[in-house]
Order: sequence, then C-alpha cells, then structure tokens
Amino acid sequence: MNSQAMLAAEVEENAIEISGLSKSFGSFQVLHDIDLVVGRGERVVICGPSGSGKSTLIRCINALEGFQSGSVSVDGTELGTAMKNIDQVRREVGMVFQHFNLFPHLSILDNCTLAPIWVRGQRRKEAEATAMHFLEKVKIPEQAHKYPGQLSGGQQQRVAIARSLCMQPNIMLFDEPTSALDPEMIKEVLDTMVTLANDGMTMVCVTHEMGFAREVADRVIFMDEGRIIEEGPPESFFGQPRHARTRLFLDQVL
Ligand code: ADP
Ligand code: MG
Repeated sequence: MNSQAMLAAEVEENAIEISGLSKSFGSFQVLHDIDLVVGRGERVVICGPSGSGKSTLIRCINALEGFQSGSVSVDGTELGTAMKNIDQVRREVGMVFQHFNLFPHLSILDNCTLAPIWVRGQRRKEAEATAMHFLEKVKIPEQAHKYPGQLSGGQQQRVAIARSLCMQPNIMLFDEPTSALDPEMIKEVLDTMVTLANDGMTMVCVTHEMGFAREVADRVIFMDEGRIIEEGPPESFFGQPRHARTRLFLDQVL
C-alpha cells in the first residue's frame, strides 16, 4: 500500500461519522446534537418511540434530508452541500424502507437491474447475473419473472433488499423494514437481514424487533425526542437499561 492508500484506509476505518448533528423542520427541532460513529462491519440497531427522529436520522445518512448544523460523513466522504458528494454517498449506501417501493410495472428481475444498468452503466447480462445472485441470497430466485403484485409482502421486501444489494453498497440502512408486514412474514425478512449481517455488511437498522437486535446488533441505541438517550451492547442495553425512559420503552415493546 502506498502512503496515500494507507491514509485513505485510515480515514475510512469508520463507515459513518456523525458529529453534533442538529436538524429542524421549520421551527421544530427534530434532532438535537447527535453524535454517532459506526465502525466498518458494525451492526447498529436504533429504537425509540414514534416521532423520536429515527427516520430523520437515517435519512440524513444518505442525504435524503439536509441538516442545519453538525457534520455527517459516510465512508470518508463529507456530506456537505456538494451534490457530487451526495451522489457518491448514495451510491455506497443501500436503503430499505417500511414500504418496499418496488416498481409495480416491472418484473422482479427488471426491478433489480434497472439502477445497475441506468445508473452504473452495467451491461444487461452482467446486471441480470448479479440480480440472480442476490435473488438467490434472499431465497426467491424462482420469482424473478413475476411482478411485485404477484408476491407476498415478505417476498416483496426481500426483493427490495436484493435490489439494494445489486448496487453493491458498503452500508445498508433499514427503516422499520418489517413493520408493514403480517406477523408470519416478519421472520423471513429478519432471516435475510441476519444473513447479511453474517456476511459482514455494515448495517444501521431502525427496528423494534428486539429479538433481531439481541441476535445481531453490536450496539443498540435508544432515541427519544430527537436525542440519543442511551446506547450499549445488547446484553447491557436489555439487561440493565440505565434510563427510566429506556426501561419504559422496553416494557412496551418486549
Ligand atoms: P420516527 O422515525 O422516530 O418516528 P421521524 O424522524 O419520522 O420519527 O419524525 C420525527 C419528528 O419530525 C416527528 O415529530 C415528525 O412529525 C417530524 N417530521 C418528520 N418529517 C417531517 C417533515 N418533512 N416536515 C415536518 N416535520 C417532519
Ligand atoms: Mg420512522
């Protein structure tokens, strides 16, 4: 490694670095002075009551939201206002939402190859091979030629995960990926996420699936009213929560 490459490797040791992040919608402050560093390969679960700013925080990480103060850097790229940086970060960060947002008029395979072909400039053949690889990973290769409406919610969410993976992201963000699903479909999506975690993917997951948090999280973060109230490894977070608000929340979701 030459010295420049070594410097880059040093800089990029952390996948995400957020410092002093504050954000308001008009006069309403949603995020207050958030500090959060996510190491490469780390799995972070964020939980907290509805309206506490979880979605806004992860939307700041892939520049779906701007912010007023503080800094956010992803893979060593500072998310300032430069559009060039925003494009770069979005290319490295995959995002899976509560609602799968698949294109209804495109087949599962075409959903997965669209961005690699049009954004990455991949050849169709190569994009399709990659798509089949990830559809196998999420265990639905046999659905490749169907349309989203022909699949169950759980299957559609697994397609959404595969579609993100086709862009070869370094980091995956999940915003309540199972909360719109019927109970019997939650496990298949969580199993897919566990597989991804075992592959070493850097993951930030907003979820209230505390079994998942116990199984894969390196760190669990509790947010309330736009602040990080408490964080720790699952054993201590669940075993000895320090703050009354965390305990109250856990009593409700566990
Ligand atoms: P969570 O994901 O924890 O439920 P959100 O980040 O979605 O919380 O929202 C945090 C707060 O910010 C809520 O009070 C919500 O109403 C408000 N909020 C979110 N998005 C917007 C927006 N685009 N404009 C105004 N207020 C918003
Ligand atoms: Mg939310």
